Formats: sequence, C-alpha cells, structure tokens
Amino acid sequence: MTSRDSYFDPHSGPVDPFLGDPNDPSNLLDDLDPVEPLTDTDLQEIAADLAELTEFEAALSPHEIHGIVVDCADCGEQHYFSWALMAANLRSLLGNGRTGVHEPAAEPLTDAYVSWDYARGFTDALAHRS
Ligand SMILES: [Zn+2]
Repeated sequence: MTSRDSYFDPHSGPVDPFLGDPNDPSNLLDDLDPVEPLTDTDLQEIAADLAELTEFEAALSPHEIHGIVVDCADCGEQHYFSWALMAANLRSLLGNGRTGVHEPAAEPLTDAYVSWDYARGFTDALAHRS
C-alpha cells in the first residue's frame, strides 16, 4: 500500500489489477506526485477559490445549478461536485493538503452541473448586469 492509498479511496471500482505487483505503473505516478505540504501561494489560491465558489453558489443555485463538474486528470472522467462537496474539498485542502476529490455525487443530474469557467462567466455576467 502506498502512502497515497491511506488518504482516500480513489474510485470504488474493480480491484487494482496491479495490486501487490512491484512493477505497478502507478508507483511511477506516486514518485512524480509526492504528498507535499501546500505552499502559502497554494493556500491563498485555494482560499480564493473557496471565496469564488461561494459567489458561484449564490449566483447559480437559484438557476437550478447544483454544483461544479470537473474533468479529472487522474481518470479522464468527469466528476460532479455539489456546492457543499466542493466547498468541503477546498476546506479539506486548506486543512491537510489532501482531498477526497473522487467522491462524485451519486447519479448526479448532469445537466445541473457546470464547469468552473462557466460558473465564473455566469457570475460575472450577473454582477455586471444591473
Ligand atoms: Zn477521477
């Protein structure tokens, strides 16, 4: 078990076919992606994201938008995060530098989720409309 596995269960899917295999290619990834403390700059960016997320929720939730969809760099799939779950993930990053990023909503209403960029554009448009 790698140190990474102790942080979260990436995907509750089939058992890793390389489990116990010393040549597990994901060991390579672990080397490239060490668990390091976040820098002050990282923390500031995450805090800014959290503030922005709060604005998004205020702007978008009245329009039946439930949260954010993220293209996952790890597995190539899209993950859906409710506003609350995304905020919890960001707060978790601020707290310990790790997040349960792979906890998608169960059977999300995919039409009710937008990308971060879309949420930003929508929120900006609302702010400048009056
Ligand atoms: Zn993923």
